[in-house]
Amino acid sequence: VPPVTPQTPLGLFGTEALIGEEDRAIRDTVRQYVEEKVKPQLADWYETGSLPVRELAKELGSLGVLGMHLDGYGCAGTTATAYGLACMELEAGDSGLRSLVSVQGSLAMFAIWKYGSEEQKQQWLPSMAAGDAIGCFGLTEPDFGSNPAGMRTRAVRDGSDWVLDGTKMWITNGSVADVAVVWARTDDPGNKVRGFVVPAGTPGFSAPEIKKKMSLRASVTSELVLDGVRLPESAVLPDAVGLSGPLSCLNEARYGIVFGALGAARDCLETTLEYARQREIFDKPLAAYQLSQAKLADMSLELGKGMLLALHLGSLKDAGSLRPEQVSLGKLNSVREAIAIARECRTMLGAAGITLEYPVMRHANNLESVLTYEGTSEVHQLVIGQALTGEAAFR
Ligand code: FAD
Repeated sequence: VPPVTPQTPLGLFGTEALIGEEDRAIRDTVRQYVEEKVKPQLADWYETGSLPVRELAKELGSLGVLGMHLDGYGCAGTTATAYGLACMELEAGDSGLRSLVSVQGSLAMFAIWKYGSEEQKQQWLPSMAAGDAIGCFGLTEPDFGSNPAGMRTRAVRDGSDWVLDGTKMWITNGSVADVAVVWARTDDPGNKVRGFVVPAGTPGFSAPEIKKKMSLRASVTSELVLDGVRLPESAVLPDAVGLSGPLSCLNEARYGIVFGALGAARDCLETTLEYARQREIFDKPLAAYQLSQAKLADMSLELGKGMLLALHLGSLKDAGSLRPEQVSLGKLNSVREAIAIARECRTMLGAAGITLEYPVMRHANNLESVLTYEGTSEVHQLVIGQALTGEAAFR
């Protein structure tokens, strides 16, 4: 058999040919930023459980990735595919970095962009796109994650004001945010859920950070405490009435994860391929054993299939026809396969795989959070199950 020049896992699939020139250029810029500016520091951030969010937000703002797929108000207005590819590169760095961008662009900014008043958009979107203002998105509560309809946070009218009371939990960027988009059940007729734009300095609002995490350590995760937070009528998002508002925001962020999780998987696989070529075991490289090649082949197959699905969903989104249950297909597949790839790669690195010298276990640990947030795998199975059978099995 003649010698073959080794290919990358995605090179083998030829997925590059499916990506347009402009989208590729954007992707390459983000990749270069992550490689040069972020990757060298990730192990330290992860070990110390810290992330310089403000500094990173400025850099990400200059790169144009914050709210990049939105139009106007200082946002770049790229294709959805370009946004997905950017998420992939960011998460090839760390899921924490991609989470920062997802929450800023797809949750906080998207909520204001889609449902906000002109005044709210003018006030927040340009500075959030630039990375000068940081946003967070508070939906989950200590007792209500997969079932946000049960939320206990209340917004009660008092004259022309609203008064908010409640607690939100597991909120990315919470402690560093300048503005929180908070979802609360109102005392209006119908008790609909509404969204509120809460500036961080508002009396009664605090955001203590959650510590002792074993996953997404390079990410700020917080509780939001709302203790009699008084807001003017102008703080409510006028165009979001009911849970469909926050759920549509989650669908946006989830779309980014379809690509993002594959970035973490790609980084694990490329690291492992390199390691396997270098590592001599008994009398030849680890890469030269059939068992190793079986693992590498299977992992590459899942990565490539995941990428084909992600690019297909990207095309559907760019054509304006992507449905939420299709995003569920992608999120379920990408995260489930990425975590399996990360764990399998870890076995190939042996003991070295448990350290922060290599990104593999960091990615594997991060993906535990990604498996849970933006809809758990089980919830996405139920969404897909409902789409297939017409039967809702959520309760
Ligand atoms: P639960 O809902 O209690 O689920 C527990 C288990 O029950 C899961 O396995 C679940 O799949 C299963 N389950 C649930 N329903 C069913 C069912 N019908 N049938 C069978 N099984 C079921 N939230 C925000 O609002 N904003 C954020 O910025 C944010 N950032 C986060 C960052 C991190 C690091 C993490 C870990 C979470 C974040 N979340 C955020 C919260 C996240 O969205 C929730 O954790 C998620 O929705 C799951 O909720 P839960 O943790 O309460 O789990």
